[in-house]
Amino acid sequence: MPDPSSVLKQVFGYSTFRAEQENIINHLVQGGDALVLMPTGGGKSLCYQVPALLRSGVAIVVSPLIALMNDQVTSLKQLGVKAEQLNSSLSSEESAAVWRALKQGQLDVLYVAPERLLSDSFLALMEELEIALFAIDEAHCVSQWGHDFRPEYMALGVLHERFPAVPRVALTATADVPTRNEIVKQLDLGEARQFVGGFDRPNIGIEIVLKDSVKKQLLAFLETQSKEESGIVYCLSRKKVDEYASFLCGEGYNALPYHAGMPAEERQQHQQHFIEEEACIMVATVAFGMGIDKPNVRFVAHVDLPSSVESYYQEIGRGGRDGLAAQAWMAYGLSDVVMRRQMIEGSDADVSRKRTEHQKLNALLGIAETVSCRRQVLLRYFGQDHEGACGNCDTCLSPVDTWDGTTAAQQALSAVYRTGQRFGTSYLSDVLIGKSNERIQRFGHDALGVFGVGKEFSAREWASVFRQLVAAGFLAVDVEGYGGLQLTQESRAVLKGEREVILRRDPVRQKKRTKKSGASAHRAELNAEQEAVFEELRKIRLELARSQNVPPYVIFHDRTLLEMAQSMPADRDALAQVSGVGEKKLERYGDSFLAAIAKQP
Ligand code: ADP
Ligand code: ZN
Repeated sequence: MPDPSSVLKQVFGYSTFRAEQENIINHLVQGGDALVLMPTGGGKSLCYQVPALLRSGVAIVVSPLIALMNDQVTSLKQLGVKAEQLNSSLSSEESAAVWRALKQGQLDVLYVAPERLLSDSFLALMEELEIALFAIDEAHCVSQWGHDFRPEYMALGVLHERFPAVPRVALTATADVPTRNEIVKQLDLGEARQFVGGFDRPNIGIEIVLKDSVKKQLLAFLETQSKEESGIVYCLSRKKVDEYASFLCGEGYNALPYHAGMPAEERQQHQQHFIEEEACIMVATVAFGMGIDKPNVRFVAHVDLPSSVESYYQEIGRGGRDGLAAQAWMAYGLSDVVMRRQMIEGSDADVSRKRTEHQKLNALLGIAETVSCRRQVLLRYFGQDHEGACGNCDTCLSPVDTWDGTTAAQQALSAVYRTGQRFGTSYLSDVLIGKSNERIQRFGHDALGVFGVGKEFSAREWASVFRQLVAAGFLAVDVEGYGGLQLTQESRAVLKGEREVILRRDPVRQKKRTKKSGASAHRAELNAEQEAVFEELRKIRLELARSQNVPPYVIFHDRTLLEMAQSMPADRDALAQVSGVGEKKLERYGDSFLAAIAKQP
C-alpha cells in the first residue's frame, strides 16, 4: 500500500507536505474526523485528496460553487486522478454517465453540490457505494452570520447519521471562534480533531497607503507589477467597479468588471477570462473570489476598506497561492471609516450584532494605523504570534515615525466639543488653524478659544490627527447625521490629560519603491536568460492549455516553470525532480517542455 509521501510525489509531484497536511492526512486515512482551518491558499485540498487516493472507495466532496468544482476536477484529471462532478452545470446524459461510473466503482473523487448530495435518490445510491470519506469544503457556509451562508449546508449533519463509519473532514479558511463552533455544531463534529494551521502567508507582501488620489495611487502601484500577470482590484460598490474597470482599460490594462449586478452570463464570461488568461485584472466587489483557485494571482488591491480583518485576509489570501511572491495593496482613509460605520448602522442587524461589526472594523483599523509590523498585528488577531518583524510589509520596509500627539489630540477634541460635535475634519482643521471663512463667522467659531491654537500644523496634518483619533476610538463619526465628529467615552481621559496619545507620522509622499513587489519579485529571481526561457515555457503551456480548453495553471504552475528555467532539466529523470511534475504530467507534457528547454541557447 502506498504511503502519503509517495502519493504526494507520484501524483502531485511535490516532495514535502506543508505544515499540518501530513498529520491531517494520516488522521483521515486512519478513519478519524477532522476540522481543518487553514488560510486561503494554505493547501487544504491536498488534505482530502491524498486520503481519497489512499482509502478504498470514492471520496465525496461537498462544494458550494460550480466554479470551484470545475477547477478542482480539471486539475485532478490532469494529474490522472479519476474525478468527476455532479451539479447543475451537467446535462442529464452527463449526470447519468457519472452515476454509472459511481455505481461501477470507477471514481476516486466526486465533487457534488449540497442539494444534489442531499436528494433522496443520491443518499440511497450512496448506501450502495463504498465511500472513502466525506469532505465538506468551505464549511463556513453553514454559518448564518457569514456572507457565504448556504442553507443546504445546515442539513449536512445527516451524513453522520446515515454513514457513521465514514470519516468526515470539514475545511475552511474562516478562523473566528463563533464560526468554528457553528461548524462543529451544525455538522455534528463534536468528536472531530481540530487542526488549526498556521495563518501566516509569508509570501504575501502587505502595503497600506493613505488615500490621496486613489486612481493615481493605484496606477503607481500597478506600475510596480509585471504587465504579464494577473491581479484583483476590490471596490466597495458596483458603480465603482464599473468606473475603475473602464478607467484601467483606458490606461491600457486588460481589466474586466465583476459584480452581482451584472447579467449572470457576462459575469461568468469575465470569470472564465480571468481564470484562463495570463494577464488580466479583475475589478470586483466581494461577490468575486470564493471558488477562484487561480494560483498565480500576483496582487490584490483594495481601493476601499473591507469590513473586517477576516474579509481582508481572505481577500488578500487569493494572491500567491502558488507560494510565489504576491502583493497586497490597500488605499485607506477617513472616508472609508465613515462609510463602513454608516453601513453597519444602516443595516437591520440588532444592537449586539452591530457592536460586533464595529469591533471587527476596529481591529482592521488597528492594522491600517499600526506603526509596527502589520503582519504581527494581523496574526495576533488570529491568535498567533509572529516572532520578530516580518520584513515583508510596508511598516517593516520603511519604518513609520511616531510623535507625541497628546496636546494636538486635546486641541482637536476640544475643537470638536466647542463647535457642538457636528462638524467634519476640514471645518475643524480651519478652526484649529485659524482660517476664517463665511461659515465659521456665521457660527461665531472664530471667537472660540481654540480658534487658531493649532497654527503650527497644516490642514493635512490635522486630517491625519483626526483620522487617527477616529481609528483609535477617541472620536466617533455621527453616522446618523451628516458624518460630523463626536466625543466618545474614551475622549475624557485624553482631555483631562490622563492619557497620552502617540500618533504615526504619515509619510508625506509614498516613498519611491526600491524593491519590486509581487510578480516582479519572483521574476527577479531569474537572470535575463532564465527569464527568456520562462517566457518560452509559458508560451508552450498556453498552447497546451488552449488545445484542451483548460486554464494554463492546471498544466503546470508558474513555480514549476520557474524551476525548470533555473535548473534546465535535460531528461525525464531531471524533469521529474522539479516540484509539481508528477508521473502523469511527466508522461503527458514532459517531452514538449524538454524539447523547448533543449532548444535554448
Ligand atoms: P486552499 O484550498 O487552502 O485555498 P489549495 O488547496 O488550493 O489551497 O492549495 C494552494 C496551492 O498550493 C495549490 O496550487 C496547491 O497545488 C499547492 N500546494 C498544496 N500543498 C502543497 C505542497 N505540499 N507542496 C507544494 N504545493 C502545494
Ligand atoms: Zn512586517
